[in-house]
Amino acid sequence: MNTVPAALAATTKAEVSPSVWLLRLGAVILALIIFLIDWLSSLDVAIAVLYVAVILMSGDLFSRRGVALVSVACGVLTLAAFLFSHGPQLFVPPFARCLVSLCAIAITAFLALKNKAARDALQEQVQLLHRSEAFLAGAQRLSQTGSIGLKMPSAEMYWSDEARRIFQFDEQLQPTLEYMIGRTHPEDTDDLKSLIEQAYARHANMEAEFRLLMTDGSCKFVRMLAQQVHDASGDCEYIGALMDVTASKNAEEALHRSQSQLAHVTRVTTLGEMAASIAHEVNQPLSAVTTNAEAGLRWLNRNVPDLGEVRSAIERIKSEAHRASEVIRRIRALSRKTDPKHIRIDLQDVLLESIALVRREVLRHRVNFDFTPASEPMWVRGDKVQLQQVIINLLMNAMQAMSGMHGKERTLLVSLTTAPNGDVTLRVQDNGPGISTQNLPSLFNPFFTTKPEGMGMGLSICRSIIDAHGGRIWAESDLGHGAALNFSLPACEHVS
Ligand code: ADP
Repeated sequence: MNTVPAALAATTKAEVSPSVWLLRLGAVILALIIFLIDWLSSLDVAIAVLYVAVILMSGDLFSRRGVALVSVACGVLTLAAFLFSHGPQLFVPPFARCLVSLCAIAITAFLALKNKAARDALQEQVQLLHRSEAFLAGAQRLSQTGSIGLKMPSAEMYWSDEARRIFQFDEQLQPTLEYMIGRTHPEDTDDLKSLIEQAYARHANMEAEFRLLMTDGSCKFVRMLAQQVHDASGDCEYIGALMDVTASKNAEEALHRSQSQLAHVTRVTTLGEMAASIAHEVNQPLSAVTTNAEAGLRWLNRNVPDLGEVRSAIERIKSEAHRASEVIRRIRALSRKTDPKHIRIDLQDVLLESIALVRREVLRHRVNFDFTPASEPMWVRGDKVQLQQVIINLLMNAMQAMSGMHGKERTLLVSLTTAPNGDVTLRVQDNGPGISTQNLPSLFNPFFTTKPEGMGMGLSICRSIIDAHGGRIWAESDLGHGAALNFSLPACEHVS
């Protein structure tokens, strides 16, 4: 395939080679010889008809203007030879021969010019084709997109240069379907094979994303789109594009990684905000453990130890220790840094666990908490820790919003409902100051905060978590009367 500069060079005016100059000289000499024979010989034949050879030769040697000039020159030479040898006598046989020669010259000139025009047009088309081929090659190189053709059922293939480059196939190699499948990552080979077979069987187009395992052990991600076309003989061919999407895949993965790192950081920050409550939450059962242990000892140290009281003190110690370890387990689970795992979970369970974590904050803020658990589980597909993070963020925001309210009851209403289509919606409603219409559109933007020490990342992370779960998060507010933050998640089929 031509490179761009080569194609552009081809469109500039070509230099005339020495061999063309020689042939032009040959044509001139031939014309002169014909002229001399026509003038000087006494043969009773139309010698000038031979000029047609000169005109035909000129078709390859001159431009269209040149061919026209050569034809006119041949006509003039024919007339000149007649006038020099016979003078201006019109009614003699040589004049008839001269007219025949002129007719032959005119017809040949007409055909030669027509032929020349057709050849010029063809050459122009070829040049245009070369140029667009070069542009296409350049565009393919820049966009890292190659084209392929796959004839079925013969499995004969066409590969553009860029498609070969993506697969790292040698230029000499004529890649086949076997080579293509051989370069595919072993884990994707079966999927690719069955995709091709099924697409062919169903007369459908192909669309796939698969990995390539290169000879150096590296991995490439490729997206393929191919359309089925039929030629005149009814044979089927897939014509399509192959795009190397490794860079965007890597960027996507890096983005996911940094999003989950950021989510982890904000989770830990939220835990930091709750540190006082958490300390209290752990301290309370520990104090109860100490108190019960002391009471147990007192019952034991009596003259007649009361074993029944000792047993119940130890049971209380056990349950308080269990409470403390439960709090620590929840906090550890929330602060752990793991990759999100989407599994089928009951959103109500996640909500109850989150409520348990913010229990002390609710008490500290003296908030009337209202939540009626549903009798049915609310199945969704998602990552428990991430969803817990969203719920805690919404609960903490609501409590923080109401913390400036004095002389009015603080109410926090949490509801979990199922829409007719099965989607699960969680709503956290407070009766705080609400959100102004001016702030409402920016609420989920990163770094948007109205709090003096706020980071403004909480709701933005909530949105990316809910987006990644295929759900929707939104805020509603009646300024001065409170705000409601909602999110809904797609229904998840119940599998027993
Ligand atoms: P931060 O809590 O660090 O400010 P968020 O992203 O969690 O970050 O919240 C962004 C902003 O949204 C808050 O600063 C606050 O102005 C507003 N906001 C969130 N929830 C509520 C609510 N329930 N009532 C009023 N304003 C709220």
